[in-house]
Amino acid sequence: MIPVSFFAGRKLAVVGAGLSGLATARSLVEGGAEVVVWDDKDAGRDQAADAGFTVEDLSEADFGSFAALALAPGIPLTHPEPHWSVTKARAAGIEVIGDVELFFRARKASGADCKVVAITGTNGKSTTTALTAHLLEQAGRDVALGGNIGKAVLDLAPFAPGRVYVLELSSYQIDLTPSLKPDAAALLNITPDHLDRHGSLEGYAGVKARIFARLGPDATAVIGVDDVPCQAIAETLNGPFAVKRISISGAVQNGVWASDATLMEMEGGQEVARADLAGIGSLRGAHNWQNAAAAYALARSQGVEPDVLQEGLRSFGGLAHRMEQVGKAGKVLFVNDSKATNADAAGKALGSFDTIYWIAGGVAKEGGLAGLEPFYPRIARAYLIGEASDAFAAQLGDSIPHTACETLDRAVAQAAEDAGKSQADEPVVLLSPACASFDQYPNFAKRGDAFKQLVMQRNGVTSLDE
Ligand code: ADP
Repeated sequence: MIPVSFFAGRKLAVVGAGLSGLATARSLVEGGAEVVVWDDKDAGRDQAADAGFTVEDLSEADFGSFAALALAPGIPLTHPEPHWSVTKARAAGIEVIGDVELFFRARKASGADCKVVAITGTNGKSTTTALTAHLLEQAGRDVALGGNIGKAVLDLAPFAPGRVYVLELSSYQIDLTPSLKPDAAALLNITPDHLDRHGSLEGYAGVKARIFARLGPDATAVIGVDDVPCQAIAETLNGPFAVKRISISGAVQNGVWASDATLMEMEGGQEVARADLAGIGSLRGAHNWQNAAAAYALARSQGVEPDVLQEGLRSFGGLAHRMEQVGKAGKVLFVNDSKATNADAAGKALGSFDTIYWIAGGVAKEGGLAGLEPFYPRIARAYLIGEASDAFAAQLGDSIPHTACETLDRAVAQAAEDAGKSQADEPVVLLSPACASFDQYPNFAKRGDAFKQLVMQRNGVTSLDE
């Protein structure tokens, strides 16, 4: 845990008692502050009370008695409208900050010579964050991995010389972090998402761009330049820091690009191949080349040599539920992409394999499977489950053969049997549902775990897990 001591002897309101809210409360108390916790939901209040914190309805509280409001990133700061606690804090003239802000202030106060590498973007954040941490670890660095990826930043090991903090940051976290000042920062891509919480694409892009706002002279900005909002941000990057551009659609003068599955850099006016991603199962697909190029640039910025990076890329195991190679039965590969909860994400997986026995369905998003038509030639058959089954069957029509399976167990059994008869070199049974899970599973992780279990129970399947 990182204790936060600059609020010692003062009282703070902590609103939102999830993972990061509780870590915030713990760090503040450890540092000598008094905290009062609130969560609009019973479960959050119960957790806070169980953890021993004072839980109080703050809707009637005098916010003037608080030094600050520490707000969880999941709670609206601006859109669709500020949470009532934000309105009260603003009226009382106290600051509204998040756990990442406390992290950066504590780092400054500690004076420790440690580095922070921060990663944001609409898609690929977790993969790039995990890969960057892995590359630095392979280079022998002392790495702490956290943020939006599932470990609250204030739960990380205390600041120590030489330690590198690799942080995944959501736009909500950036919005609550005015002192954000990493040593290397990456913005991978921007596509419309979460606009309800940021008001507009401009508002969303503006928040993301703040990851670069305070970079110092030895810092590095890594920016994907394959979408229009990021290109515009790249043009405005002008400071004492280095700028490395990332692309999967063409060469860049200063940065890293992927040409097919090869990471390239310019050196002395020459194009130089730096790392080969071909055959790395955890980095399949062009979207993962973008992630790999960014992680490569970030690790390079921390002084890791290219040959170490090639080895590190090869040994990256990938994250669970994102094109995770689960097992093999003869030629048949089983892939768990349960994280693909919309058509866009499923498209990334469908574009990464050639002969697919595709398990899809659950609770569909607006538009259903729209946009996936270009991938249809790769799909041998679709196995439909859950609520979306009928709608998906109607959408697929005569384009792809499909079977209504209702449940995952039947889908896995039928897909595996059909794939086993395929003449293709590598038939793939792919769970990439293009749907939320909550009609049949509490979350995408439980759905992915169920898939893995069903696969591993089959005769003749060998595990590909590390
Ligand atoms: P995030 O943390 O931003 O949600 P993840 O690394 O968890 O991203 O990846 C989630 C899904 O997003 C993946 O399963 C894949 O479908 C898609 N994805 C991953 N990286 C990218 C990328 N660079 N560009 C577009 N989509 C991506």
